[in-house]
Amino acid sequence: MSSLDQPFIALGFLDEIAAMPDLLAEYAQLFEGRTDVTLVVVAAGFEGIDLERVLQPLASALGLDRDGSADVVVLNRSGGEDELAGRAGALYTRRAHGGPFGGLPRAGDAGALARLVDAARQDGATGRPSYLLVTYDSCRLDVLQAAHTPVLDSYAPIVAAQTPANFTYAAHQAFFVGMLPNALEPLPYYNRFIHQLLALGAVGEIHVVDKACAHRVESDVNLVAGLSAAGYQTVGSGAMNWFKQTALTQWFEKFAYTGTDAEAQIDYLRREIDPSRPFFGFVNFGETHDPFDFKGKPDHCPIEVQSRLIEWPPVQNGRPVGRHSEAWGHQVRSAEFLDAQLPRLFDGLPGSTTVILCGDHGEAFGEDGYWGHGVNHPSVLTVPLAIFRLDRASL
Ligand SMILES: [Zn+2]
Repeated sequence: MSSLDQPFIALGFLDEIAAMPDLLAEYAQLFEGRTDVTLVVVAAGFEGIDLERVLQPLASALGLDRDGSADVVVLNRSGGEDELAGRAGALYTRRAHGGPFGGLPRAGDAGALARLVDAARQDGATGRPSYLLVTYDSCRLDVLQAAHTPVLDSYAPIVAAQTPANFTYAAHQAFFVGMLPNALEPLPYYNRFIHQLLALGAVGEIHVVDKACAHRVESDVNLVAGLSAAGYQTVGSGAMNWFKQTALTQWFEKFAYTGTDAEAQIDYLRREIDPSRPFFGFVNFGETHDPFDFKGKPDHCPIEVQSRLIEWPPVQNGRPVGRHSEAWGHQVRSAEFLDAQLPRLFDGLPGSTTVILCGDHGEAFGEDGYWGHGVNHPSVLTVPLAIFRLDRASL
């Protein structure tokens, strides 16, 4: 179901409303006749009789029991705050709230709430942006630029970027703290020194984050843990062996190690992500990694691209290198295969979802005697990067 079909949920608190009935009166007046907003009043700690005594006279006086009145639901139970925070678009309160509710925008009057609702409607979501990080393992910049990728091209250009690490584990640990591949051009979001997309506000490069950041996450662990604590769903799938390691995956609410199998990974994300709630989705595709196999591929790459092919010190021998290596064409075909899978991955996700698609590191095809990755060579450290919204609106 599209998130647009769901009412915007604002959370109120009965003890506060009982003390400040004008909150409910303002809401009843401004949202009368609207079915796209529901005020969920959390009444934890109230017994049935108390609840009647507090709420009933208030609701009757404000006409909230009439047909066509503003929508109010009372939630008389404890617990489930994380789920509630994940479903809500705002807090309707004049108090400060921490914990699971700390990441929600707050409205202290009905006018402010109406503005938040409108903003969320424009986003087509709950007002909190969702993210999908997609890494094509080992994919070189020149490979993705040369590959026929009509799906990706319909969203965004491919930008040259420097990845923070030369192998899967280190690169993804860096991505998970907001250190994405960094564009060489001064493009906002693509270049974090100009404007960072997602960043930790409590640890790490705080001086860079403080300068300009689109989404600041308060966590001293990483973005996955921080977004999860703020009520986001965190769902990931990894193809590479490194994703068997809990050090990379433990912060995800749900994670599947699949081996190289884009179809299974997409099935998993489609099954586990509820698109009506904010999410941080992640998928590491392995088809672009040596041996460059993908489902239905009839042939195999004749060259085993591994760093063990390097003679030390590295020396370029007479073999064809770079785009002249046979392996290069195989990685191009793998990238084209993945492009054809993207529509199924994106299908059903909110238009406001921000997708970050990149190589985690590149791959050396014999240049200067380097092969594979795990070594610092420009062919390994330069990767493709594309950042875009699924509704193709500007970021
Ligand atoms: Zn990798």
